[in-house]
Amino acid sequence: MILKIGSKGTVVKEIQSLLVQIGYNPGPIDGYYGTKTFKAVRSFQKDNNLTPDGIIGPNTYTVLEKFLKGYDIYYVQKGDTLWKIARNYYTTVGKIIAANPGIDPDNLYIGQRLTIPYGIDLIDTKIDYTYEILKRDIEGLKARYPFIEVGVVGKSVLGKNLYYIRLGTGKNEVFYNAAHHALEWITSPLLMKFTENFLKSYTDGKILRGYNLDQIWKESSIYIMPMVNPDGVNLVLNGLDPSFPYYNNLIKWNKGSKDFSKVWQANIRGVDLNHNYPAKWQEGKEAEEALGIYGPGPTRYSGPAPLSEPETQAVVNFVKQHDFRLTLAYHSQGQEIYWDFENMASAEARKIGEAFAKATGYELAQTYGITSYSGFKDWFILEYRKPGYTFEVGLGKNPLPIEQFPMIYQNNEEALLLASII
Ligand SMILES: [Zn+2]
Repeated sequence: MILKIGSKGTVVKEIQSLLVQIGYNPGPIDGYYGTKTFKAVRSFQKDNNLTPDGIIGPNTYTVLEKFLKGYDIYYVQKGDTLWKIARNYYTTVGKIIAANPGIDPDNLYIGQRLTIPYGIDLIDTKIDYTYEILKRDIEGLKARYPFIEVGVVGKSVLGKNLYYIRLGTGKNEVFYNAAHHALEWITSPLLMKFTENFLKSYTDGKILRGYNLDQIWKESSIYIMPMVNPDGVNLVLNGLDPSFPYYNNLIKWNKGSKDFSKVWQANIRGVDLNHNYPAKWQEGKEAEEALGIYGPGPTRYSGPAPLSEPETQAVVNFVKQHDFRLTLAYHSQGQEIYWDFENMASAEARKIGEAFAKATGYELAQTYGITSYSGFKDWFILEYRKPGYTFEVGLGKNPLPIEQFPMIYQNNEEALLLASII
């Protein structure tokens, strides 16, 4: 990969945002490699003993990538102390200890292999959150916090991993998922940032919004699936490449347009994953046909059969392997929380929904018509008669601008904590 003046895209945006975090000025974080980005890269190269040509080739990228991964591997040298290493990496002794379980700070030995997390946060919430970024962030979290459980629930149509992260070791299991809908990818960094903030506070022994994280860790297991539809998210964010499987079909399904960035909610086969669950699926099918939807497309096509897609199959299998007390499915937008399905939800589910409404400032609401069939929440309530919620974060038109992220995070952090113990 070579990035230079004139390059554009999600990777440029990601590097611009990183340069800001580590003290350079690449101009606006807009995904366009202009002269300011060129100058910032050149300064970075000078500071890191790289050829200062302002071009990101393999050598410069290798150094940048360590920062993107959020950690470096270091071998202890003569005279090192953790404090000294921490200072050289602009990080803290506490962060190094968390990343190296069992380490004895008073007995380092020469040649000892250490994982050193950089002082900066890992999850960047100012950028287009592609699958590749998610994947690297999950690897980075696992390096920084090796005690977490990370796994793969299944694979997408194009073979991407459907990751999960588990926080806690307790018996009370809850499940949060995000980005069933491609345009709603802002919900992926929401769950990832929550994961990072939880782990930061937990390892520092701090409380978070008044919640005792030690207690949550012991009593609960929070299973987080941050991106249910990675193929769709990447199609929205990176666009369509001629080498792409389904290239011609996708254009046809998108009514002849090559622009997927403002309309595409489905997976890569044009199936709307949140209409593909076996919860009044047939009624949903009739409703969509009344709207003129008879096949794959950007939104609302429920597929040839319930659970026809590997992504929904993986989610259902995962749920079946657990005993979830409740589930949260993250979507955008509307600042609403849906809590019922066909009057099957209990009075307790409504009460919990009211507590979430209070914590978020969102409205507790019912769904009607086509949106009320074959969703993940609908299936969970129908199958288990336990509390299941759809959170619609943010306001405006999808895809929501990333500038809404801080507000969305503020609205949801407490509910994400509360859901693990309520
Ligand atoms: Zn949605």
